[in-house]
Amino acid sequence: MIYPIVKYGQPVLEQKAETITEFDTAELRKLVEDMFESMYAARGVGLAAPQIGVGKRLAVIDISNGEEPEKKLVLINPEVIAKEGTQTGEEGCLSLPTFRETVTRPKTVTVRAQDVEGKTFEMTGEDLLARAFLHETDHLNGRLYITHISPLKRDLIRRKIRKLQKANEWS
Ligand SMILES: [Zn+2]
Repeated sequence: MIYPIVKYGQPVLEQKAETITEFDTAELRKLVEDMFESMYAARGVGLAAPQIGVGKRLAVIDISNGEEPEKKLVLINPEVIAKEGTQTGEEGCLSLPTFRETVTRPKTVTVRAQDVEGKTFEMTGEDLLARAFLHETDHLNGRLYITHISPLKRDLIRRKIRKLQKANEWS
């Protein structure tokens, strides 16, 4: 099932998501499957559950855009446990469509997370994958990438969005 993506302005995007405690259930597997489907439909490389209106600590990532099945990643209750270096590049978010901003982030990031069965694993990513780990973990903490840009640029985006909301072009 393809969920519509929740856009900036909805409270669920700025709330801390809840820890998942039940694993290996049909419900969780279905949610993961639906999240991949929704992410591919929206042409994203990552999607966090709050972006489909589900306030749970779950994110999916596929930096190959569905080209390489082994690149599909499911992060449940992820935590960033190490970061190193810096990278500067453009970042966007499915919840803030059409906007892209330059964001400086660590270059190498290690996350600790659980899989669908509840097994804990650690994984290190570089460049785009490192960025995805941080972006998605931020989502689960109620944080959007625009909190990493200058207040001036953030206000400009907020103002543009308010205009779109008034014109009913943002829902
Ligand atoms: Zn995002």
